[in-house]
Amino acid sequence: MNTRDYIAIEEQFGAHNYHPLDVVVDHAEGVYMWDVDGKKYLDCLAAYSAVNQGHCHPRIIKALKDQAEKVTLTSRAFRNDQLPLLAKELCELTGYEMMLPMNSGAEAVETALKAARKWGEKVKGVPQGKGKILTCSNNFAGRTITIVSFSTEEQYKDGFGPFTPGFETVEYGNIDSLKAAIDENTVAFLIEPIQGEAGIIIPPDGYLKEAKEVCEKHNVLFMTDEIQSGLGRSGKLFAFEYDGIRPDVVIIGKALSGGCYPVSAVLSDKEVLGVFNPGDHGSTFGGNPLGAAIAREAVKVLIEENLVENSFELGKYFRSKLSEIPSKHVKEIRGKGLFIGMELNESSGGARRFCEALAERGILCKETHTHVIRFAPPLVIKKEEIDEALIHIKDVLLMD
Ligand SMILES: *Cc1c(COP(=O)(O)O)cnc(C)c1O
Repeated sequence: MNTRDYIAIEEQFGAHNYHPLDVVVDHAEGVYMWDVDGKKYLDCLAAYSAVNQGHCHPRIIKALKDQAEKVTLTSRAFRNDQLPLLAKELCELTGYEMMLPMNSGAEAVETALKAARKWGEKVKGVPQGKGKILTCSNNFAGRTITIVSFSTEEQYKDGFGPFTPGFETVEYGNIDSLKAAIDENTVAFLIEPIQGEAGIIIPPDGYLKEAKEVCEKHNVLFMTDEIQSGLGRSGKLFAFEYDGIRPDVVIIGKALSGGCYPVSAVLSDKEVLGVFNPGDHGSTFGGNPLGAAIAREAVKVLIEENLVENSFELGKYFRSKLSEIPSKHVKEIRGKGLFIGMELNESSGGARRFCEALAERGILCKETHTHVIRFAPPLVIKKEEIDEALIHIKDVLLMD
């Protein structure tokens, strides 16, 4: 079977809720992927930042194999010997008092929302069922009905109502909009420090710090969704570090397992995560020993291989080289670390054709929001590999 055969089968039997590039990958290593026809690609998407540690990192795969041969799932009816150590290591790394493990990012976001509502009632004293959560314009936090309830993207909601009440949108990056929306029943403000899906949107300098102060003043939980921007992607362990703040709640996922397994978590202090009592919330697979062992190793790899620093340094290099390309298509290049968005002019006919041309040349990226190409390679990438990508990126950007 070749590329076309696989695509035909998937089109026939799989629901069409995605529109992937026509590349059928059958194996990958580090920053490279190979398709079923043997063609090699440099991955500049890193599975939406889930494979920050690079594909099939040998240490993470070893942890996966070793743990798979011991025990994979206990459920939380019993304890296992990996979850306690993952919880301890994550708390020691990030300075939070507690963590709650889930699987997908969306589940971790839902967990944070539930924690905020319950904290609102039990700690802040908001009347039952009245807790309000503020979210941002152009947010992305997953695909459950509650999460799309506060999406501002028409398509994410179309046909999926009725929606969950209790959310109000504030304009991303606008402090007055946040101030105006807060009232006595507001329990939390949920924000991505850098908006990935919206097209690598960075709020104005100092905004996060000011937003944190406003929340603190009104006793509102400041919750950051670092599922994509976190764990080194932005050139810091967490993107909020650029503003020197400490959020009340941090949500992580994606690279928490190095792309080897769905593992997500909510990090916070006892005051917030302590609101959960046995039976309040859970997940059959959340905190399972296989996922926990993988996540422990994935986090160690991130730190011990200095991937956060590499992201910071090579991100600067990549962005400066991209901005030297004299292309009539480029409107703006923005980003932090290896979290880079290149916005093209409206007249350039959308980013998709550039991504397709790059794929032809062996560079895999994906358009986001029609006009933006996202460059977010695995953080193990080397300068020479960026130089290799730049040759092709330049070629493609000089097309008509
Ligand atoms: C990917 C993502 C999510 C959702 O994670 P899933 O694992 O796809 O459910 C939530 N928030 C942000 C910022 C993301 O990038």
